[in-house]
Amino acid sequence: MGTDWRTRGPATQMVHGGTLRSQFGETSEAMFLTQGFVYDSAEAAEARFKGDDDGFIYSRYANPTNEMFEQRMCVLEGAEAARSTSSGMAAVAASLLCQLSAGDHVVAARALFGSCRWIVETLLPRYGIETTLVDGTDPATWERAVRMNTKVFFFESPTNPTLEVIDIGHVVAVARSIGAKVVLDNVFATPILQKPLELGVDIVVYSTTKHIDGQGRCLGGVVLADQEWIDEKLHDYYRHTGPSMSPFNAWVMLKGLETLPLRVKAQTETAGRIADFLAERNEVSRVLYPGRPDHPQANIIPKQMKGGSTLVAFELKGGKKAAFAFENALRIVRISNNLGDAKSLVTHPATTTHKNLAEDARADLGISDGLVRLSIGLEDTEDLLADFDQALEAAR
Ligand SMILES: *Cc1c(COP(=O)(O)O)cnc(C)c1O
Repeated sequence: MGTDWRTRGPATQMVHGGTLRSQFGETSEAMFLTQGFVYDSAEAAEARFKGDDDGFIYSRYANPTNEMFEQRMCVLEGAEAARSTSSGMAAVAASLLCQLSAGDHVVAARALFGSCRWIVETLLPRYGIETTLVDGTDPATWERAVRMNTKVFFFESPTNPTLEVIDIGHVVAVARSIGAKVVLDNVFATPILQKPLELGVDIVVYSTTKHIDGQGRCLGGVVLADQEWIDEKLHDYYRHTGPSMSPFNAWVMLKGLETLPLRVKAQTETAGRIADFLAERNEVSRVLYPGRPDHPQANIIPKQMKGGSTLVAFELKGGKKAAFAFENALRIVRISNNLGDAKSLVTHPATTTHKNLAEDARADLGISDGLVRLSIGLEDTEDLLADFDQALEAAR
């Protein structure tokens, strides 16, 4: 009772932060599968609707299990407030739409998760919101894109699938100078390896489908920011458009957070060893891994990340044919576009996650036909290395 979890280490925070115990004193967090809440009297209902009493009203607005998850995320992220959403895309859409109006302008990095790019390129302009896509790794492009009506900067770092790193401090400085907000999709970094709010970012979004669930079960998302932004921008949008997370999924995410620090640490260590192993191989023309000194933005990484990544991207010399042969030969690592799972997964971005981009847009992003993305899971490192070894032989 009354413990300030924010002063504790992340492992302790993720086991205890945000817990709300019911009158039964359960050890594990309870799952409140309820749509609504009953009031002791008509007066009590009136008081709750007036906001004089801060109990729960309806699970589209808030639910005790979701609140535990949101509070635990706030502790981890150092955020004042959060809202959980039904998917990562619901979080991204909410974080942008709740604060933008016709006539506003958004600057976004062109290397975005496919659906995020669709929101920026296709959806926002339909509502009269102008957008500009920039090469996020070139600092000068952020300033050049600024207009009188620029309201939001949006990007991810590291990016999908080439694991480019964008200088967060630089984007924050440009945004501050014109009074714009910075929204960062922190999925690839995870809240363990990168703390965007400490770097000056205003709004952080996650697909909790990835490392936060961590075991490939439920979809989910979360938006984190200061209390004022959540109250003034997100609160009404969230209540009335209904992107809320199911309390069942919130419970799964809450339990996922308990092991997040351990999992990300183990997955990052293994990923680092795999990146080094791949870099030594003749079949491989380049390895993109934020933990390696040959990463194109190696000088920026220590300023904003506490470690490498649980993902590794690499390019096979033999193009698509070699990439497919490699994927098909794998025996432990499974072919799937998901990431952050306990199971190691492999994907060929050019023919799956990024197939909808025009060829020149793919080339701009460095997504060649030989590019393969790995999401490293929790298997024994030696087993994974053996699997990659035999699959590279098959890909010759
Ligand atoms: C997966 C992902 C999303 C979308 O999340 P969903 O939970 O699938 O809706 C958004 N951004 C990034 C970087 C992602 O990896």
